[in-house]
Amino acid sequence: MDTGQKESILIVEDEGKISEIVRAYLEKEGFRVKVADTAEQALGLLKEMFDLIILDLMLPDMQGEELCQVIREGSDVPVIMLTAKSGEEERIRGLGIGADDYVVKPFSPRELVARVKAQLRRSGRVKKKLLSYNGGELKIDLINREVFREGGLIVLTPTEFKILMSLADQPGRVFSREQLVTIAQGYDFEGYDRTIDAHVKNLRHKIEKDSRSPEFIRTVYGIGYKFTGTPDED
Ligand code: CA
Repeated sequence: MDTGQKESILIVEDEGKISEIVRAYLEKEGFRVKVADTAEQALGLLKEMFDLIILDLMLPDMQGEELCQVIREGSDVPVIMLTAKSGEEERIRGLGIGADDYVVKPFSPRELVARVKAQLRRSGRVKKKLLSYNGGELKIDLINREVFREGGLIVLTPTEFKILMSLADQPGRVFSREQLVTIAQGYDFEGYDRTIDAHVKNLRHKIEKDSRSPEFIRTVYGIGYKFTGTPDED
């Protein structure tokens, strides 16, 4: 059980039923919660600092994507989008406009709370300067953008670094090849999914003890990749 968890969360959602359920679940976990029914209300509340924003894609006065972009102009607060559009394209678009995660309606409030906690942990970790895994076997220096294997510096290309950092930042989360293309090349880049395989292959040669049985970057067949290193305690 976490203690002292008092992060503040803004829910932007015009369906009162949904926002009240989500509010109840989050408050039960000790979060401070505010609700905005419209984008206009949300923009008014954004003068305050929030630790995370849950944002519905379909609002009466503005599209959630647009509001997300406005939020992004002034802040890197984690944003979780609520969407009724379940197409893969919309999902990636959701990530391309700066949302950190998305949940498709109808969703379980428990699942959403788990995602909220994951994003809060992640945003806290990003502020850390050094990520370390498997008892120091792999270290990622986020300030100098350097990677060390068993203490030795490894030279990665900028694309390899972006892919590794994104995977390692959320151990266990499965990334599709399409998501990794977006992360590696930016939303507008018409990359080929298979180029990601080549980057991952090169990465494995550099960071794995045995690239044929990788312990850090595992293949999720038919989908993509996930990071399976164990983060070290501080
Ligand atoms: Ca709505």
